[in-house]
Amino acid sequence: MEAIATFKKELSSPKKIFITTHVKPDADALGSSLGLANYLIKKGHEVTVVTPTDYPSFLNWMEGNDSVLDFSREDQQKKATAALNEADVIFCLDFSGLSRVNELGEMIRKSDAYIVNIDHHQDPEDFADFRYWSTEAAATCELIYELIVKLGDKDLIDKDIAECLYAGIMTDTGGFRHPNTTKNVHLVVAELIELGANPSQIANWIYDSNSVNRLKFIGFAISRRLVVLEDLHTAYFAISKKDLKKYQSRTGDTEGLVNYALSLDGIKLAALFSEREDGIKISFRSSSEVAVNKFAASYFNGGGHKNAAGGKSEQTLKDTIERFESLVEEHQDELFVGEAVSAD
Ligand code: 5GP
Ligand code: MN
Repeated sequence: MEAIATFKKELSSPKKIFITTHVKPDADALGSSLGLANYLIKKGHEVTVVTPTDYPSFLNWMEGNDSVLDFSREDQQKKATAALNEADVIFCLDFSGLSRVNELGEMIRKSDAYIVNIDHHQDPEDFADFRYWSTEAAATCELIYELIVKLGDKDLIDKDIAECLYAGIMTDTGGFRHPNTTKNVHLVVAELIELGANPSQIANWIYDSNSVNRLKFIGFAISRRLVVLEDLHTAYFAISKKDLKKYQSRTGDTEGLVNYALSLDGIKLAALFSEREDGIKISFRSSSEVAVNKFAASYFNGGGHKNAAGGKSEQTLKDTIERFESLVEEHQDELFVGEAVSAD
């Protein structure tokens, strides 16, 4: 039987379903989880959405947000664990390796449930019974839309579902600007608009919900924490724990900062290093020709997409950026393939 037919059969009677996504969920991670959850609930399933950590408050408008369990919260872990243990089906959305969901990863690996992985990252780990995966897709939300249509249920996509899915596609394409903004992206969002998603309303909820502290933090970061290595076509921000504390930074406050570095004329590789409780979190962004996911995977224990990736470092902030600078210098020929890098 075709994998998708088996998958369809698996969902043909009411099931207990557990949906999870990667740490620090973004709009694609949460939008795909809640978009799918709202659809599965309509199909008569019992659904629990569990995130490994918290997520930015500018995502709280999504339908179903109030029922999401945060596994990192002691008061919600027990309920989340019970839902995972009782699940007939587990959906893993917007991540390709079980290390991206912290402790939930090993629990999922050991589970006897039917495991589904829906994702658009490179090099998926082989942990699922059914994988709906394409690196051609700009967002996991695009794949969820396609899958619902393939299952013959387009008419079940209501305004709430359309809004969740639209949000993920909007943010994973950087507001329809990144190189992953394809014809299919526009065709899918056109359908989602038809089904009730309001583009300017969703953009407003996500992009225009800054706190004064966040805006001041961005101003501070750009004026005091931006380093430009013009000869290497590289620019980065290095943000310390103290900086984050000074501006009372909340989850999501550094989101998008790295794009300011990439917006500089002539810059093809941008990075953001932020010092967190558990080490240095790194975001990489690049222009279309430069592959940052390989760089992140080779040197910073990370991965992601060609032009948007992430990683981590256990060194100090200072040592991490020193290492980064020398790695870029050392590997400039492979990073900037076919690019004129004027280091001389
Ligand atoms: P962001 O910079 O927005 O946190 O992440 C950009 C992209 O890289 C996302 O698709 C995200 O899933 C991926 N990514 C971020 N951090 C990591 C990481 O530590 N490991 C892996 N494999 N992917 C990451
Ligand atoms: Mn995504």
